[in-house]
Amino acid sequence: MLKDLCEAGFLDYSLSLDVFKPSCFRISGCEVHMLELGVIEFRPDRETSQAIVLSCGIHGNETAPIELCNQLIHDILTEKLQLAHRLQIQLGHLPAIVQQKRFVEENLNRLFAYRDPPPLDASYERHRAWLLQQATKQFFAQEGTQALHLDLHTSIRASQYPLFAVYPFLHHQPYNKRLLSFLAESEIKTLLLSHQPTSTYSYFSAQLGADAVTLELGQVKPFGKNNQEMLAPFRAALVQLLTVPTWEPESAWQSMRIFKVTQELIKHHQDFTFTFADEIKNFTTFERDAVLAYENDEPIYAVEDQAAIAFPNAQVALGERALLILKPYELNSDDIR
Ligand SMILES: [Zn+2]
Repeated sequence: MLKDLCEAGFLDYSLSLDVFKPSCFRISGCEVHMLELGVIEFRPDRETSQAIVLSCGIHGNETAPIELCNQLIHDILTEKLQLAHRLQIQLGHLPAIVQQKRFVEENLNRLFAYRDPPPLDASYERHRAWLLQQATKQFFAQEGTQALHLDLHTSIRASQYPLFAVYPFLHHQPYNKRLLSFLAESEIKTLLLSHQPTSTYSYFSAQLGADAVTLELGQVKPFGKNNQEMLAPFRAALVQLLTVPTWEPESAWQSMRIFKVTQELIKHHQDFTFTFADEIKNFTTFERDAVLAYENDEPIYAVEDQAAIAFPNAQVALGERALLILKPYELNSDDIR
């Protein structure tokens, strides 16, 4: 199996399977578990203090993180990298990856809120969200380990700041200094602080007590067309994080550019439209009282100065978020731990 896995790569190997059966094998100093289709776990023999989940392809067309994880798995299997921590890597949505689409029926990253298994006739995405939730929960359940989840994405639109992170709402608990420094070290220097509970994957993991963020690593591109250079600092920091037992990133979290959500536009009517062009970049700013959108023939205004926009998408389903509006924010010492 190891030979096939190394030759094909984890993604193609997973896609080639007609029937998935859980299995386990060894590489030097580490057990490797194929837990579910598209879910691989590494358990180093040495004592470890951290449990790290990397998820990618939660949206099938976001290929840069899939390429990065595929390469990482290859480097671990070929013993180029020796892990210092437990690691689980998840390919989120295999059918959407095959079809090079964001999703097939429903946006998977709005479905991580299950308390019970979905009904049998629910969409693929609902079943997959449930399965990934269980895998993450079990992985983080081991006592005495620090849990970290990086959910890796790329954005539909270009961005003023191509690499940025979204910190899920922590219910007014402080943000993790080490995670912020890791982001700064990764040259992901823009951070958006979420303002309320959501059904995203990173919020789910944060609720389990993990340090969790959603990372936006550039713009959606087909396989082979991603800017590897732009992601090199992130990859380098990630390798340090995974392979050095007590690595502390040197970069200071104080260098981060931080935004807080002030407004959220939910699409309530089919006629919802933005006043700006489709190509507008994330983090473009508007002045107070600027008209941002129309819905039901009514204008929707920016309510604060320097209103920066993020994730505009007029095509979302009714009741879903069409736009986030942000303002610059400075973290103070009470905000971090
Ligand atoms: Zn995404």
